[in-house]
Amino acid sequence: MDLSELTTLRVGGPARELVLAESADAIVHAALGVWATGEDWLALGGGSNMVVSDDGFDGTVIRIGSHGITALPSAAGTVRLRVEAGEPWDDLVAHSVRQGLGGLEALSGIPGSTGAAPMQNIGAYGQEIADTLVAVEFLDHETGQLVRLPAAELSLAYRSSVFKDGRAGIVTALEMDFDDADGLSRPVAYDQLAAALGVAVGERAPVAEVRAAVLALRASKGMVLDPADPDTTSAGSFFTNPLVTAGFARSLPEAAPRWETDSGEVKVSAAWLIERAGIRRGFRLPGSGAAISSKHTLALTNTGGATASDITELARLVQERVRNEFGIYLRPEPVYVGFGA
Ligand SMILES: Cc1cc2nc3c(=O)[nH]c(=O)nc-3n(C[C@H](O)[C@H](O)[C@H](O)COP(=O)(O)OP(=O)(O)OC[C@H]3O[C@@H](n4cnc5c(N)ncnc54)[C@H](O)[C@@H]3O)c2cc1C
Repeated sequence: MDLSELTTLRVGGPARELVLAESADAIVHAALGVWATGEDWLALGGGSNMVVSDDGFDGTVIRIGSHGITALPSAAGTVRLRVEAGEPWDDLVAHSVRQGLGGLEALSGIPGSTGAAPMQNIGAYGQEIADTLVAVEFLDHETGQLVRLPAAELSLAYRSSVFKDGRAGIVTALEMDFDDADGLSRPVAYDQLAAALGVAVGERAPVAEVRAAVLALRASKGMVLDPADPDTTSAGSFFTNPLVTAGFARSLPEAAPRWETDSGEVKVSAAWLIERAGIRRGFRLPGSGAAISSKHTLALTNTGGATASDITELARLVQERVRNEFGIYLRPEPVYVGFGA
């Protein structure tokens, strides 16, 4: 089977071996078996944050298919859940919202599996998984041991974690703490969402209303998977917002949207940089099946029949234009698989 069938960008050749693991035990068994051979391996969740090469992956892909959400003992006012890694992320969000639990409502509509969520500390509309995550159960590639890693040890930051920085292994389950606060959300922390809800930033709103507002906002940008919307054949945002020094930020045009971060660095809008570098929504190279989404400058889409080469060529062009115009390197957000070192 081509991995294009298991990824949201719908590009990529076959895996040498594909194993479906439907429980934490099965994941451990499959992983230890492959690791003992020393061959190349890859954990695959929903395939919504990867670009797989047209040559495919010369190794074993372990498809994470474990399911389940269970309640754990927790402090008053808090509900702690254990979630198996293969549980679809948005099913977990919908479950928590149905229970009236605050914590993940602004992360509604993000595709993929729960186990992959800590990889890049998924975030949207003012929330990120770091706000809710307590610990992960992790099969460590270095030791072959199943360990519990507290969230504080995961270096969760904007679109990054120890896992993105090279700590190899597989997350088999997550523990998360939710607010049991009368069905109310965490304080709304994003202007556009607050405006859609008719509340001030910092106020709370019913979790179900926040979820509905987020899903509507995301759909308007092609950011909820929808077979009827070709703009959603993507890996979501293809580039992270670059972090630059405060001095460098001052050299950028005043109109460039930017946000100061706790580290003192300044986060700059990648979408703005791309548009100002002359690449508009809907842009495509002649004869290529890859295009910039017609709804969202940051998403690269497969408009039908695109190859992985089409996608990476378009990504390179965007990077070159932004580098030439502003001297900024745009870092791809998805993981490149099978492209060699
Ligand atoms: C339409 C769309 C919208 C999106 N919107 C957002 C958004 O708002 N915010 C955001 O942060 N992201 C967003 N994304 C990106 C993506 O959905 C998330 O990064 C998601 O968490 C990826 O999950 P996955 O299971 O699909 O991961 P995959 O693509 O399967 O894997 C991604 C990486 O994680 C590794 N991995 C997967 N599972 C495990 C595991 N159990 N243990 C260890 N490693 C693992 C893989 O090996 C790979 O390196 C969007 C994507 C799309 C297509």
